[in-house]
Amino acid sequence: MNLADTHSLQASFADPEWLAAHWMPFTGNRQFKAAPRLFTAASGTHYTTADGRQIFDGLSGLWCCGLGHGRPELVDAVARQLATLDYSPAFQFGHPLSFELANQIVARMPKDSGLNRVFFTASGSEAADTSLKIARAYWRAQGQASKTRLIGRVKGYHGVNFGGISVGGIVGNRKTFGQGIEADHLPHTQPPSGSFFKGMPPTGAELADELLNLIALHDASTIAAVIVEPFSGSAGVVIPPVGYLQRLREICTQHNILLIFDEVITGFGRAGAWTGAEAFGVTPDLLNFAKQVSNGVQPLGGVVAKQEIYDSFMQSGGPDYLLELPHGYTYSAHPVACAAALATLAVMEQEHTLDQVRTLAPAFEEKVHNLRGARHVADIRNYGLAAGLTITAHPGEPARRPFEIAMSMFKKGFYVRYGGDTIQLAPPFISTPAQLDSLINALGESLSEVA
Ligand code: PMP
Repeated sequence: MNLADTHSLQASFADPEWLAAHWMPFTGNRQFKAAPRLFTAASGTHYTTADGRQIFDGLSGLWCCGLGHGRPELVDAVARQLATLDYSPAFQFGHPLSFELANQIVARMPKDSGLNRVFFTASGSEAADTSLKIARAYWRAQGQASKTRLIGRVKGYHGVNFGGISVGGIVGNRKTFGQGIEADHLPHTQPPSGSFFKGMPPTGAELADELLNLIALHDASTIAAVIVEPFSGSAGVVIPPVGYLQRLREICTQHNILLIFDEVITGFGRAGAWTGAEAFGVTPDLLNFAKQVSNGVQPLGGVVAKQEIYDSFMQSGGPDYLLELPHGYTYSAHPVACAAALATLAVMEQEHTLDQVRTLAPAFEEKVHNLRGARHVADIRNYGLAAGLTITAHPGEPARRPFEIAMSMFKKGFYVRYGGDTIQLAPPFISTPAQLDSLINALGESLSEVA
């Protein structure tokens, strides 16, 4: 069967068994399979559905396709790499692209940050667990094996592996699976509904001081790391208050605790800079990335470590053929993913993508905040090309309205994400101002149409 042939596929849409075979992730399977939403092609800022409609990609895939879809540069790079070296063992052998990509990523870390050693994974969840494991192993390598405790944040999202859901603060991700690894949580920094702050909230930096309480409780000699997203996406776009990340950094430095930034969403352009660290002027010790690094066309993620962390592993006294860190994935630094990422970075340079994002962001902010006062909108938050709207709860069915709004948008030709009590927007970096207008106008209509 030619998978591009939507007719041969459509014949099966009515077959519940055919649909049942795929247990879909983070999806209401029963609802979806009753009325499947299928994309069969994508080009530029739009998807094509199985029934031939054009859908504007208001979340850049899942925050990962900022350069849009079907980019010939990426298609060529991936095709060429597949034909040249389709796979190379991730352990004990290498290929040139991963070293080139590591250097290119390092070159985009904040100046003088010391973030210059890259460990590759194939996803953001793997990056999260890798960073937590590196943090623990680092302290062991330093002779401080008691430093094992990990601290995340309420509403934090660090993927779905056991480390990530343990430090993460998304209730649904944790309550289904029971006890994870031990972790503490700082309070979230989402301002009360009705704040409607544009960009960074002016107050709330003192929320970082809760870390001092956790240190008083547990003692810094037991704490390995704190992990936060510079701004969170999956929790509904929560922006750090002015001075908050600086305060976290100060406390971590003072008490010898590693600071991990999960930049799976903020990395590679969404914040109008290569990293959230640069955008917010705060340097972590470990920085996780994924998604936009390869424009979503191939799975790739990783952790950038400060050199002193890497060096502490290299200085182990054992024979040089032994592993310094027994960790890695079959698909770490997959050559085809590396080719996609190198092409993504090249396109971003050629097209001055960061400038594009910084140019679009202020108008996007204005437009999205015009929805203040729209029906059901309890709060709006934004940074760069990301925005989150808190939607008032439907009595007895808290998550229903965001879902209905997203479905109404889909009918109008727009894809946006609903999660918890929020609608999330992350349009492609290549969006035109007119497309952003249409997106926000359609959202305004959907808000007024949904009961
Ligand atoms: N960390 C953050 C901050 C994320 O937003 C996500 C994905 N939304 C992840 C980790 C997990 O990434 P993945 O789905 O690639 O495992």
